[in-house]
Parts: sequence; structure tokens; C-alpha cells
Amino acid sequence: MLTAAKFLVLAALLLALAWVVGGLPGDVTARAGAYTVSTSTPAALLLLFLIAALFVIVLRVLGGIGRVPKNVAARRRTKRVVAGDIATQRGLVAVAAGDAAAAKAEAGRAAKLLGETAVVLWLRAEAAKLSGDAAGARAAFAALAAHKEMRFLGHRGLAEASMGEADHEAAGRHAANAEDAYPGAAWTRTQRLVLALQARDFSAALGLTREKNEVAALAVAAGAQVSAPREKLNFAQMALKAAPDFAPAVVEAAQALRDLGKVRAARKAVLSAWGAAPHPMLAEAWLAPGAAPLARAQDAVELAAAKPGHVESELVLAQTALDAGLVAEAKRHADAAIATGADDGRGQGILDALDGRPRTPGRSAWICDACHTTAPGWAALCPACAKPGTLRWRLPGMMLLGRASGTTLLGRASGTTL
Ligand SMILES: [Zn+2]
Repeated sequence: MLTAAKFLVLAALLLALAWVVGGLPGDVTARAGAYTVSTSTPAALLLLFLIAALFVIVLRVLGGIGRVPKNVAARRRTKRVVAGDIATQRGLVAVAAGDAAAAKAEAGRAAKLLGETAVVLWLRAEAAKLSGDAAGARAAFAALAAHKEMRFLGHRGLAEASMGEADHEAAGRHAANAEDAYPGAAWTRTQRLVLALQARDFSAALGLTREKNEVAALAVAAGAQVSAPREKLNFAQMALKAAPDFAPAVVEAAQALRDLGKVRAARKAVLSAWGAAPHPMLAEAWLAPGAAPLARAQDAVELAAAKPGHVESELVLAQTALDAGLVAEAKRHADAAIATGADDGRGQGILDALDGRPRTPGRSAWICDACHTTAPGWAALCPACAKPGTLRWRLPGMMLLGRASGTTLLGRASGTTL
């Protein structure tokens, strides 16, 4: 609508101009040597207009001819970029599909068409990695590490390559550079955690995880690495904050308190944990190792009173009575342990010992949630898969139902679970 209005206005103006020009009086004479041209003023103006228009057209044609080589080059460049992009896309798909040969071929084609752009470098590195060309991958990642926008990917690739070659120092250096390039990246944190665990630097590892079971396990392990009781206590408390009543942490806290001369506080900590979640480790920490068997049996009564009727309470009473030669007491508590329905064989083992039979072993153990390996004792890292915080005290074959506050709920009622 607007265009039509503009056209009408322009046409009216041109008509008015033509009418004014057509009405101009007089004539124009031009002389060149012996030639003389004479015409009316409107015809002279029309001729002047035609000459100007012709001049503009000639100039535009000449300009267009001049731009031809430039345009041809630009078209060729566009075609090359499009082909390079297609090669890059095909290469990325080949990497994702695990097709090493195709990925390498497309990466080469993309490099030829686009040059060593950051994306092409990354594609080349991934393709080389996929085809087992470690040196090629390393060179491409190193070049990528110098790229302003994508240096995180370069350092990440170099860190992974160094880890694969067990060069933990270089891996740590590249992980730190990756953190610098992209602060707070989840990948970097995980990688640094793996490195700290490999170096058994539990204190550093502790700052790199927020998983409660990992924090609890690593804090206990970090506490075991320090000698100052106050520091040890701090780590144990950190573990207990992540997983309340976590037996290894309670044992560590009790040990630190004893070292600080706070024996009553140490006993209170163990007793309170027993009341919440009885565990054989706590019984061990409660009973004085050098004490007379009868004194230990009496001590066990105080501990068991914190959780009366629990299978672990009955078991500690039965075992200490057995050690003290209190046969009737030992039998009574072993029977009571079995009667709870949660005995893992240790109650039967005490009855076996009383009858002089080979002792039935207890079946509860520290078992890894991740790889299901049974560990000889509690450790921060699974001895088989090296994952932190995965060992849990439970019966083999138990189904994990879920976790709450660092406590594992098991499919079948049993003794302590953590
Ligand atoms: Zn494991």
C-alpha cells in the first residue's frame, strides 16, 4: 500500500518536471569546429539526461566486470566452508558411532577444507584417540590447549591421556589448567578427586566431593593420616556430620577423645552411637583390650543396655560371657541373638564353641555397593574397585533399597547397616 502511494507521488513529480521542462522557452546551440548543433531547450535537457544515464550504466558494468574474480573466489570459499562443515559433522557422527576410520578420514578432509580450526582440532584429536593413535591425539589436544575458547577441551584431553599413561603429575597439571579454563566444571572436580585418591591425599579429596557417603569415608581416612588428636577429632566430626553414627567415624572420634584425655567423652560417644546403630566395631572400641575377661563381660552389660534386645547387644554379651567362662550367660545371650531372627551366624558360632564344635562363621561383612567385593575390613576405598565410601556392613546378597542420612536400608532385617 505504502509502495503504491510512493509510486504515485514519484510519477506525479516526474510528470510535473516533464511539463515544466517541456514548457521551457528558447534553444541551445553547440559548436565544435565546423559543426554546429542547435536544438530546443527541452530536447537538450533530455539529451543531457540520457548521456548521464548512459554514463552511470557504463560505470556499473565496468565495476561488475572488475568484481568478477573477487566474487568467484568468495563463492569458492563459501563452497569450501560448506563442504568443510559437512565433513566436520560427518566426523562428529563417526566419533559418536565409534567408527575410527571414518572419523579420521572426515577429520583430514575437514582440516584440508577449513584449516586447523578449534573444532577441527578437537575432531582430529578424538578421531586419533579412537583409532589408538595416542601421539596424534596428544598433539591435537596440545594445539587445542593453546586455543582461547576451547583450551578446556585441550587440557581435558591431555589430562585423560596422562591418566591413561599413569603420569599422575602431568594429569594433575592439566586438570588444574582445565579448572583455570572453566572454573567449577564437574568433570574437573571428578578428575581431581580421582587423582587425589590415587595419591592417597584424602584431605584434598575431601574438598572435591559432596556425596555424603564419600565425605564420611574420606574424612575418616584423612583423620587416620594425621597424628594430632584435635585434627583427628575434627575429621571424625566431619564424617559424623555427613553420616551420623557411622561406626568407623565414631571409633576414630573416640580414639581422638581418649588421646586428648577425655575418656568419659569417648565412652559417651561410643555408647550413644550404639544406642542408635550397634556395630561390632563399636563393641571393639568400647571394651578395653587389656582388661580381664570378667571386667570386659561387665563392661559389655553397660554397652548392651544402650540398645537392649538388639542382636548386636546379645552377641556382645554372649561373646564376652564366653570369654569370661560364663557358660550359662553365653548360651542365654547366644539363644537370644538367634531368636531375634537377625543373627548372621555369630550367635550359632558361640553355641558351637560352647558345644566344642567347629565355629559357624559370621556372614556380615564390609561389602562394596559398587562391585560387591567383600573387603577384609572397613577401608575408605574399596580394595577391588577403589571407589570411595562404597563399603557397607551387611550380609552378602542383600538388596539395597535406598539410603537416608548416610544409612543404607537393606532388603532384609539384619544387624547394623551403614
Ligand atoms: Zn568395589
